[in-house]
Amino acid sequence: MFHSEDTRFLEKNEALGSTDINAYTEFIGSEKVERLKNMAGALMNKEWAHVNSTFSGGGVAEMLRSVVPIAKGLGINTKWYCIEGEEEFYSITKRFHNIIQGVDQKFTLEDLFETYIKTNRDNFANMVIDEDFTIVHDPQPCASIVHGNYNSKTVWRCHIDTSDANEMIWNFLLPYINNYDGVVFSMPEFVKGGIKKPVYQITPAIDPLTTKNRQREEKEAYESLNDLFVEHEIDPERPIVLAVSRYDIHKNQKTIIKAFKQLKNSAAIKKLKPQLIIVGNSATDDPEGMEMYKEILFEIDGDTDIYPLLNIPNNNENIGALMKVARVFMHISTKEGFGLVVTEALWQGTPVIGSNVGGIVLQVIPSKTGYLVEPFDIERIVGFLKHLLTNKEEQEKMGMQGIEHVRENFLITGLVAKYIKLMRFLLGTDFPYFKI
Ligand code: UDP
Repeated sequence: MFHSEDTRFLEKNEALGSTDINAYTEFIGSEKVERLKNMAGALMNKEWAHVNSTFSGGGVAEMLRSVVPIAKGLGINTKWYCIEGEEEFYSITKRFHNIIQGVDQKFTLEDLFETYIKTNRDNFANMVIDEDFTIVHDPQPCASIVHGNYNSKTVWRCHIDTSDANEMIWNFLLPYINNYDGVVFSMPEFVKGGIKKPVYQITPAIDPLTTKNRQREEKEAYESLNDLFVEHEIDPERPIVLAVSRYDIHKNQKTIIKAFKQLKNSAAIKKLKPQLIIVGNSATDDPEGMEMYKEILFEIDGDTDIYPLLNIPNNNENIGALMKVARVFMHISTKEGFGLVVTEALWQGTPVIGSNVGGIVLQVIPSKTGYLVEPFDIERIVGFLKHLLTNKEEQEKMGMQGIEHVRENFLITGLVAKYIKLMRFLLGTDFPYFKI
């Protein structure tokens, strides 16, 4: 547990409550639910902590909002702690994040030592983390392993693709990473060299019980969307092509707009009158979001069939409903960790045109759950859009296959099971007879 003057952490955790694992029986069956209970049984009364840099916005926070209550419901005392920094810290860690994903951006030694290290040190100065098992998420709090006081088995969970990381930054991070007891990546391809600790693969997942991911009927989805559609003058009768993501350089929204504009001009499509809805938000740790939003508006250039929406009201209900009513979901990032939005769209029964990068390739199975393209291959994107918009039967069949693909591989219960396995392994729970 953290020992600190600052009670902010504890307040947040108490607000999260716990979830009864039996509620997932309808999605994964009673056998898997019982197995999960048995696995967690060995960890009863153990303490588990998560450390990251934001309570809301982005995939990590989204997953922790489910993982923490499920683990609590399974009897593992689980906490979620969030580091806090000045605006400068978020601006730097955003660039840090980009550089680790291979984008060339300016970075100074002052950024590293006077802001990044200082924020990590300040956040952890008066704290001892003595939960049994701690997962530190992403680069923002990575250095806390050295500047904090962890008495736990601690792993670094990296949600991004580090394979093209800038050498200098990677070399700066490596000594920190190598202080952990292990490292978790979403895919083996994301791992850059130099890690001397065991590396585990765990893919992200979605929670079917959340407002966003509950499966709804189409009629109900349209009803939920009524206010949003009225406000933005979106016509519910016209087919919807949807893209949802943070406004971020890697999400490549400009290519989606270019492809959609080209699609509109094709004769086969004109009478269908499709519309493109682009939904984006800006996370509290993402100061570049507004800048990117402005660039998107510039690219749209007044096209009235394209609706760029920013921080929509009633976010979770509306995102889930939009994913349900969309005919096609687009996610053609140039770099992607996993792309939870793809999972969410598939779970609502919507096929995805996704780029051939990162975790998207685990989710978009060509001709089965959607189509894969190179991120800037506008011709092929337009071709697949045309195909899906004009073949309702195939679109629906792929939608059903997408749901099953997610059920098998990317539901939150599977993610918790993998974390529990790792926790049992690192705490020695699985090897009782070897204990001295
Ligand atoms: N999201 C949202 N509203 C938005 C944009 C995104 O709720 O306007 C959510 C989205 O549904 C998903 C998460 O933010 O759950 C984004 O996760 P993903 O893994 O796709 O990308 P990341 O932001 O972590 O790079």
